[in-house]
Amino acid sequence: MRKALITGVTGQDGSYLAQLLLAKGYEVHGLIRRASSFNTGRIDHLYQDARDPDARLFLHHGDMTDGVRLLTLLGSIAPDEVYNLAGQSHVRESFDQPRFTAEIVAMGTLHLLEAIRHSKVDCRFYQAGSSDMFGDSTPPHTERSLFAPRSPEATAKAYAHWTTRNYREGYGLYAVNGIAFNHESPRRGETFVTRKITQAVARIQAGRQDHLYLGDLTPVRDWGYAPEYVEGMWRMLQQDQPDDYVLATGTGRSVEEFVEAAFEHAGLEWRRHVRFDERYLRPTEVEELLGDPSKAAEKLGWRTSVGMEQLAQIMVDADVDALEHEGRHWVDDVRLPGWSTSATD
Ligand code: NDP
Repeated sequence: MRKALITGVTGQDGSYLAQLLLAKGYEVHGLIRRASSFNTGRIDHLYQDARDPDARLFLHHGDMTDGVRLLTLLGSIAPDEVYNLAGQSHVRESFDQPRFTAEIVAMGTLHLLEAIRHSKVDCRFYQAGSSDMFGDSTPPHTERSLFAPRSPEATAKAYAHWTTRNYREGYGLYAVNGIAFNHESPRRGETFVTRKITQAVARIQAGRQDHLYLGDLTPVRDWGYAPEYVEGMWRMLQQDQPDDYVLATGTGRSVEEFVEAAFEHAGLEWRRHVRFDERYLRPTEVEELLGDPSKAAEKLGWRTSVGMEQLAQIMVDADVDALEHEGRHWVDDVRLPGWSTSATD
């Protein structure tokens, strides 16, 4: 049975990748951060008690900033494939926390590559690179386009990209960079713009919210559907030779177009609900990210099938459904006088 280690397994992509690899018969190991509350919501449906003889998903506490932990884990698991998906992946947030972002995204990748090199575990390595590395570079972006990163997250990703190449060329590791353009899903983090939009659409439709505050609507992105992208990641590790690949749909659409598609799907007029908030502006914005996925199509046979409109519809439908089945955790669970949040008390 092939074994994979996924960092960032609790994230959007990590959860889809774990699901894909389990379906392919892998034993999957995931790195998770210890937290004071559970952070495994996206993978709970995949988890079986580790004592179950059929269990194939195993979770290990660890952090990308702890190179020693990564080294010992790698030695004990001895995976065939390592997918490095962990990261502080929020671009706007990286302007507020640049050092923290670099510690995880740049240094974390270095720690993991060093762990592979020194443990001598014979494994293949995938680095989750980002289209944000292209920044100001002229679209459409290919594997040969210049990097001109415009955020701390993107500069940290560029470091990780070149370090991955360096370890491939210098130490002969099977190490690849996926350069993924935006990919979204119902599992997308709630502070990312697409999910923020689709959650708001569901709430506005249900009469639970009136307005949605957004920043600049003009930037163009190449939006794809996350489950298709994790298939591309896996394919990159199944080739004879390691190489770098762009994963993209090849079509660019603005944030405004995504907003329009999401609101329209719910029968709403977006201009009546969307308001501008300058707090969401970035010190440096990237106007257009548009990928050319020709190489991945030719060499990996990888193609996307879900376009932006369908993606917006999938996400709105999922958020409408989630709202209808919402739990009411922690509301009025304190049994002390004066603590009630209920208006009727
Ligand atoms: P998410 O933000 O959903 O997931 C990030 C994951 O990294 C989470 O599991 C998170 O854990 C984990 N993580 C964060 N910090 C640490 C740390 N210090 N140690 C260990 N784990 C940590 O991102 P996505 O799933 O969307 O993306 C996966 C990767 O692909 C990221 O590196 C991202 O930058 C990259 N990428 C994503 C794109 C996209 O459009 N989705 C586009 C291009 C690249 P926790 O759950 O505890 O927070």
